[in-house]
Amino acid sequence: MKPEKILCSSLFFLFTFIAWNSYAQLPLQADDPPRKTDIPEFYKSKLSDVEDEIAGLKMGKTEVIATSPGGLPVYAVFYGEKEDFQSHANYNSAVGARNPVYYARKDENTKPVVYFIGPVHGQEPEGIVGMVNLLQVAETGKDYRGKAWPELKNFFEQCRVIIIPCGNPDGRKRCPYDSFVGIPVETMTKYGQGTKKDGTLWRWPQSKSLHPMVGDVGILGAYYNDDGINIMHDEFFSPMAEETKAIFKIAMEEAPDITVSLHSCSCKPFIIQNSHAPHFMKERIANLAQRLNQKYIDLKLPNMGTNWELSVSVDDMAPPPQKSFNMVSALHYASGTMAFTFESPHGTIENDADYDEILDIQLVLYREMFDYIVNNRIFWQ
Ligand SMILES: [Zn+2]
Repeated sequence: MKPEKILCSSLFFLFTFIAWNSYAQLPLQADDPPRKTDIPEFYKSKLSDVEDEIAGLKMGKTEVIATSPGGLPVYAVFYGEKEDFQSHANYNSAVGARNPVYYARKDENTKPVVYFIGPVHGQEPEGIVGMVNLLQVAETGKDYRGKAWPELKNFFEQCRVIIIPCGNPDGRKRCPYDSFVGIPVETMTKYGQGTKKDGTLWRWPQSKSLHPMVGDVGILGAYYNDDGINIMHDEFFSPMAEETKAIFKIAMEEAPDITVSLHSCSCKPFIIQNSHAPHFMKERIANLAQRLNQKYIDLKLPNMGTNWELSVSVDDMAPPPQKSFNMVSALHYASGTMAFTFESPHGTIENDADYDEILDIQLVLYREMFDYIVNNRIFWQ
């Protein structure tokens, strides 16, 4: 073999080793339940799955929008041409001038902009499964099971779409499970919100009482990036995390009509109200939440039941701690977008959803978001 070929193949193995090593799974502790060995091929929840998907994209345009404190890339994938919004002002100044058109001219000649923010909590890989399969649908019309989603595919022709497959690669890398299907919720909580030095679990919501999560930390939860920042509760007026800055830069530049932040819990799937959005926006979110829940009922997927509805509270003057201002609240005020949080089941022992259902729950959410916004736009003109 020629010397340059030896050098070439050595470099290839070196980079392959670095890539493999940077995404290697952490070892489990002695009392942890074993990882499941039956995770289907289509359940693409790993950072290496994101890398593979991005490497194979033909239509989507990818950018590295940030580098995490742990040195990992945060990707965004863009579909459809960006409109010229003839922007003269940032959103809140335009609203101060009594018309958001000064921020972005959005009329029937412009395409809706749909913004998907993949998990900012690393122990919630269900959203990565959804995002990687959505990219596959965008490219081929089918998910990784071979199931066709013609409406979903068609919406990519009608909209500008931005997909961040994983908002917190540091956290995802630190999560030693690729799925929580059939795993106890206690294990998810241990690696999700992390532990104190004495091994006790931080748990939700006490996990938000120390931020950044630095100091009394045994296992740093996958909730946080490597600096201990929970991106959902960053300081939005002066962001601590590069990931947060990148998420907001896209919102401000793209003026999304609709935005979702993907999360999971040991629960049935549901949209969480954006408790600090204006009343009219809460009504829109409640309306979408209702439609989505009905769709889950019709499709016999896990759902919140027929009597559930998302409240549109009238107690906007209630003092803390009634509701917290978080990333989706801030996204609305940065760009006017209809931003909300979605919670998927993890499929833990306690909440019983299987791999297929979790992927369907994700893809049905995306389809309903497109359908809603294509038919219920707010124009600024
Ligand atoms: Zn979450």
